[in-house]
Amino acid sequence: MNKYDTNNIFAKILRTEIPSDMLYEDEYAASFKDINPQAKIHALIIPKKEYQNISELLDGDKEFLSNFMKSVSKAIKKINVKNEDFQLIANNGENAGQEIFHMHFHLLID
Ligand code: AMP
Repeated sequence: MNKYDTNNIFAKILRTEIPSDMLYEDEYAASFKDINPQAKIHALIIPKKEYQNISELLDGDKEFLSNFMKSVSKAIKKINVKNEDFQLIANNGENAGQEIFHMHFHLLID
């Protein structure tokens, strides 16, 4: 895998260099609306750590991973106000459709 590019779009969103429609944020994670929604609600949930994809996250710092997943749960509860069924998807690598190389979950609620 290539080195993490600190100029990727989501890194810029975390640094507030480009705007986002923020839905949830804490010490470990941020969640904002996808710019090109594929469902009624389409949010992205990203870690506040430089991981390019979910493989790196899973192989990385276990304490961070645990805290991040707790934050993912909080973000989902905040965004999914009606407690509907949902999809949580991570594209890992170019051949799987990953376009932005800062790890992210797609949260889709139809
Ligand atoms: P992936 O193909 O899994 O890397 O997903 C990247 C996602 O980021 C796509 O669904 C895009 O619509 C979304 N996206 C790209 N730029 C932005 C942006 N500036 N703000 C919010 N979402 C974005």
